[in-house]
Amino acid sequence: MPTVKPKKKTRIVKEINVDLDKCIGCRACEVACSAFHAIPQYSSTNPARSRIRVIFDASNDVYLPIRAGDYTPAECTGRHTYTINGKEYKECSFCGVSCPARDYFKEPDSGLPLKCDMCESDPPLAEPLCVQVCTCDALTYSEREEEVEEEVKREEIEIGLESMANKHGWQTLMDTVARMAKKS
Ligand code: SF4
Ligand code: SF4
Ligand code: SF4
Repeated sequence: MPTVKPKKKTRIVKEINVDLDKCIGCRACEVACSAFHAIPQYSSTNPARSRIRVIFDASNDVYLPIRAGDYTPAECTGRHTYTINGKEYKECSFCGVSCPARDYFKEPDSGLPLKCDMCESDPPLAEPLCVQVCTCDALTYSEREEEVEEEVKREEIEIGLESMANKHGWQTLMDTVARMAKKS
């Protein structure tokens, strides 16, 4: 049976890149994200509703913008806690998951998990809003094309020909097609 070769297709991968050296902790990204997702849109700002949170990492003296990822129903085990300048930090501080272990990335009124949607909008935004308001270029947006393999759906005609060949043999089928082509 002849095999159908996989055809190369492409898809667009969207990314927000973070440059920690440039983040000044202004939290404009939090304000913009929460306003964009307010109902009605832009009616309020509340960083607790933002899908991006800026964490200050005192050990390295940097601000870390962290976007909300997937929801998990269970907190992970074996977490570390460490103390820097008398302040206690949990490993969770730098995690982007919406998880029962803490209140981050949860809608404050309903408790529902929040997840970055890269600013889904109709019409689409030129760039995610947090990137647009980050005047320090700590957040930048990029798109790249990635190859994906996809099975080509066999056409009806191909399946029909194969079934006839199985019944009468390829040679007979080809002779018949050649004869018909000559006639027409
Ligand atoms: S807007 Fe940019 S510079 Fe300001 S906190 Fe967010 S990521 Fe950092
Ligand atoms: S917040 Fe993140 S690190 Fe902390 S328990 Fe949940 S998944 Fe684990
Ligand atoms: S991409 Fe949009 S939804 Fe995601 S964190 Fe930035 S502003 Fe919020």
